[in-house]
Amino acid sequence: MGWLAELDRGFYDLVFPRDCAVTQEPMDDEARLHLSPAGADRLARIHDPRCLTCGHPFEGLLEGDRACPHCLDLRPAFARAVCAFRARGPARRIIHRIKYERCPFLADDLAHAALADDVFRRHLAGSVLVPVPLHRARKFERGYNQAERIASFLAAHVAGCRAELLLRKQHETVSQTRLGRQERRQNVAGAFVLADGASVDPLTRYVVIDDVLTTGATLHACAVALRKAGAEGVDAAALCHG
Ligand SMILES: [Zn+2]
Repeated sequence: MGWLAELDRGFYDLVFPRDCAVTQEPMDDEARLHLSPAGADRLARIHDPRCLTCGHPFEGLLEGDRACPHCLDLRPAFARAVCAFRARGPARRIIHRIKYERCPFLADDLAHAALADDVFRRHLAGSVLVPVPLHRARKFERGYNQAERIASFLAAHVAGCRAELLLRKQHETVSQTRLGRQERRQNVAGAFVLADGASVDPLTRYVVIDDVLTTGATLHACAVALRKAGAEGVDAAALCHG
């Protein structure tokens, strides 16, 4: 994946001036290549209090029992998912460019910005990050798997983390975007298995990584595959909550 992504970035930098993906202002010499501090400030960052299962913020739900409408009917195989941003506005646009407009390098900047969230960073610390796999035909078509890129970046920047490609997507599934909650779960059920030659350690904590959590169905299906293989500590994280 690496060389292709770097080639993409080189090409992109050549054709377009290096502007912030959010503000469109020219970038100064900063920690991120395509996301300025002002641009990162415009992303819909998730703050506490947030759902301890799916990570959705409890904005406007401070009264009552705080039942989360986003994961009410999900009994996930992961214990807790944490997300840094809501997938709306500029964050949604960045995710779209990462996935569909051949801008995988934007995943590094979004992951970097996500790590400013202490809850997100602590959630990952000391764990093995397992990216949600793409089916190989889809990965070939896209040229990269954005979840792998995100997991690699996070593993390189969070204490005690490493990324491992432990899962394989054994059959292609139809796009989740037009499906309801129940349909999404059926669509991905059984789609993921342990990668050939991979094994899990029951004493290791695994965090399944994706770009976006929408209903949690994909992260759940990946967590099921890890648990079936013997993993006991399984959590999840995504840069954005849909
Ligand atoms: Zn929830």
